[in-house]
Amino acid sequence: MTLDRQFIEKMKNKLQEERSRIESELKRFANKDEHDKEVYNPRFPDMTDKLEESAAEVAQFVDELALEGNFEKTMKAIDHALDKIKADTYGICDVCKKEIDPKRLEANPSAATCVEHAK
Ligand SMILES: [Zn+2]
Repeated sequence: MTLDRQFIEKMKNKLQEERSRIESELKRFANKDEHDKEVYNPRFPDMTDKLEESAAEVAQFVDELALEGNFEKTMKAIDHALDKIKADTYGICDVCKKEIDPKRLEANPSAATCVEHAK
């Protein structure tokens, strides 16, 4: 592995910063599951008698669910990258095991694959 410690340390800091940012975003509209720290339970809107109001609430809830899904995905990717740092496999493509271009990592520190194997 040719990535130097300093670079990995820098990416690790970026990942941790991003992780705490997402965590606080998630807390804004979701309750952390008491039993499983990895799971966030969105708050269900209170159904009101006024139909219009609840329709708006449901729409907002759907938006939040989508947003939450994205956050959870990003969070998983970040945790995966942090695990790879711990396992000393950071910067290695999950698919072909080749080194990921450091420029790609700099742009996206949680990238787990090389450009070729992205998506
Ligand atoms: Zn690859």
